[in-house]
Amino acid sequence: MQMLNRRTLLIGTAVVGAYASVRGPDAFAQAASGPFKLEPLPYAADKNEPHVDKMTMEIHHGKHHAAYVENLNKVAKDNTALAEKPLHEILANLKNVPDAIRTTVRNNGGGHANHTMFWQVMGGEGGEPSGAVAAAIKESFGGFDKLQSEFNAAGGRVFGSGWVFVTVDKSGKLALVPKPNQDTPIMDGQMVLFGNDVWEHAYYLKYQNRRPDYLKAWWNVVNWDEVNKRFAAAKEGKLTI
Ligand code: MN
Repeated sequence: MQMLNRRTLLIGTAVVGAYASVRGPDAFAQAASGPFKLEPLPYAADKNEPHVDKMTMEIHHGKHHAAYVENLNKVAKDNTALAEKPLHEILANLKNVPDAIRTTVRNNGGGHANHTMFWQVMGGEGGEPSGAVAAAIKESFGGFDKLQSEFNAAGGRVFGSGWVFVTVDKSGKLALVPKPNQDTPIMDGQMVLFGNDVWEHAYYLKYQNRRPDYLKAWWNVVNWDEVNKRFAAAKEGKLTI
């Protein structure tokens, strides 16, 4: 209890200072000047309340995601070739990344791509999927209920930290793909339609050890309009991260 209070206080202080307090002004300036950018959340941090709480969103985006971007920019400083290709191409060809930085690029590049997608597909009203995605879900999974139960079960089975994704191919076929750590199906040459983060940092403040409750609640904030945009881009072969 005492630890939680102290943590809450520390977090409260950091949030007041916004991004500058995350790493200090110098570190932020360096990250901001690197080739990889942390885009602001596309909505207010409390947009996903009560299912995903404001403080979790602020820490998740402003600290965790920010750290992946910062770490990526650090290696890009000494490996300028890294910035010459878009992130999804780097991730799809990790074998071409020098040995010394491959794990760093895998973890932090994967983290940057995964979270960029994650913010985009949240901030919505949940409910039944709409548009072409609804039809694709029916065709690939037999219905939205089936997708949800398979997706939640797969998310629950991830041991430790990881993600559960729905991939999409050019024909519009969907598939369920869990991944450990910050790995992404992009690393296997696939496209990610949407996914949920099951790292503890994504839910621990509100749900503690109850990952299944988080997985269930998360559907209430899915933005199906954004997912439909991603689906359309995928069918045109233009979906990147
Ligand atoms: Mn995360």
